[in-house]
Amino acid sequence: MAKYIFVTGGVTSSLGKGIIAASLAKLLQARGLSVTIQKLDPYINVDPGTLNPYEHGECYVTEDGAETDLDLGHYERFLNIYTSQSNNVTTGRIYQTVINKERQGAFLGKTVQVVPHITDEIKRRMLFLGKEGKYDIVITEIGGTVGDIESLPFIEAVRQLQWELPEEDVVVVHLTLIPYLKAAKELKTKPTQHSVKMLSETGVHPDVIVCRTEEPLGNDIKRKIALFCNVKTEAVIEAMDAPTIYEVPLEMLREKLDLICMKKLRITNFKEPELDKWKGFLDKLKYPKSKVTIGLIGKYIELQDAYKSILESFVHAGAMNEVKVQVVNVHSEYITEENVAEKLEGLDGLLVAPGFGVRGIEGKIVAVQYAREKQLPFFGICLGMQMAVIEYGRNVLGIKDAHSTEMDANTANPVINMMEEQKQITMMGGTMRLGAYPCEITAGTLAHKIYNNLHISERHRHRYEFNNKYQEQYEKAGMVFSGRNPETNLVEIMEIPSHPFFIGVQYHPELKSTVEKPAPLFVSFVAAAKQYNEQKSSLKNPVLQGEII
Ligand code: GLN
Repeated sequence: MAKYIFVTGGVTSSLGKGIIAASLAKLLQARGLSVTIQKLDPYINVDPGTLNPYEHGECYVTEDGAETDLDLGHYERFLNIYTSQSNNVTTGRIYQTVINKERQGAFLGKTVQVVPHITDEIKRRMLFLGKEGKYDIVITEIGGTVGDIESLPFIEAVRQLQWELPEEDVVVVHLTLIPYLKAAKELKTKPTQHSVKMLSETGVHPDVIVCRTEEPLGNDIKRKIALFCNVKTEAVIEAMDAPTIYEVPLEMLREKLDLICMKKLRITNFKEPELDKWKGFLDKLKYPKSKVTIGLIGKYIELQDAYKSILESFVHAGAMNEVKVQVVNVHSEYITEENVAEKLEGLDGLLVAPGFGVRGIEGKIVAVQYAREKQLPFFGICLGMQMAVIEYGRNVLGIKDAHSTEMDANTANPVINMMEEQKQITMMGGTMRLGAYPCEITAGTLAHKIYNNLHISERHRHRYEFNNKYQEQYEKAGMVFSGRNPETNLVEIMEIPSHPFFIGVQYHPELKSTVEKPAPLFVSFVAAAKQYNEQKSSLKNPVLQGEII
């Protein structure tokens, strides 16, 4: 059966536990083991679906339609595997399960308590994926920082499993911070010592300590940490700040994080890590041949994590095209007809981001118009596609009040309308059209060229759709609906063939982009931006170009 690795965090949040966990998983996978990762989050929301992106970053949607933590995106991008509802569990979900059981009478006669009932349910979830028989190793990342009140039941569950399971079946990796004090020119180990002490007080002893640091640790510091935290010196791993997250697996390989974990787990049957594809990707990423600038038009741009999967998809697509993709964030709320040219100057492509609610949408519509009229490559995702439909309705079809019922419930021209099945729904969490659905593509369209396939499947997260009553009018005016759901006829893809690259999709292609399989739409969009950039510079330097020829 499976073996289990737990990753806890100490000292502070935002140390990159998800990236360390994903990197370790990548290495074990590269050594021939079958691995999955899950995240246990100590907050009370049943899932992050109802959280504002400002609170918690992007909500990552899995194939099976679970609204999950953005770390699952890292897991999928690194491992090139699908995760599911079972890979992300919150305190809310744990309590919901236990309380439902209590109502069903499952604990009849017993007082239901944090220990053992909540911790039992946590343990059940921790072991669940390992019971499928599919995985050699299940990595569980515990959200939050050791010492938080909320994480206590999770840490207690780890303690119990450390005791219940055979010693060679459990590894605990603790990630901490070693701050560098500039004035003293010294790395400080004390916060790590305290953090490990706090963890030990709960009965969990880490086997491996991964130290985030800006400066190399050196052997003395490693020995000191080992001595005071009671681990072997080889189990103190240096995790220096890396120029890109995709470098971290190689850094962890150099530090032998995978070997130390496998040694504790007594895994002897492994091969040399197969990382050729990964290294090939990294080479392209590190040595781009040119650069393109893409404008990301959204309303959550202050927080990088809000568009995490989109930004990572650009990294994958950039490497594929051997260009550096510089993403410029443009706040949709501040774009007006008067300043749009100035705001979008110098861009080689425009992406209008997904989103909810009325704030910033007029700016998005103005930006779409600019891209359409200036022949600038355009890519709209979900709300971005809906804005492209509204813009076309207003400015090409002349339907001045074309709108979405999300923004104006009483509009006379609802070109974007709430999906029929959504109209009865009153509950918010997990009730959108979520997860993977098939899409049939029309032959000979841009979408067909991009995917090189007529049958695709992509992930969704929305309540509104294109109103098919307007289909004829739009088609007459030159818009093509090139992808549809085969069962419901819902519009999944729209494009404008008279434009060099103008495409909008109702789904979220960014959720399926991985290092090994970049999303085709992003790859083609970046290629279009590259072409746009080259044409632009040949126009700017006609003499120079002539000389080269
Ligand atoms: N708010 C829009 C809808 O619900 C778009 C959602 C999104 O961009 N994910 O349909």
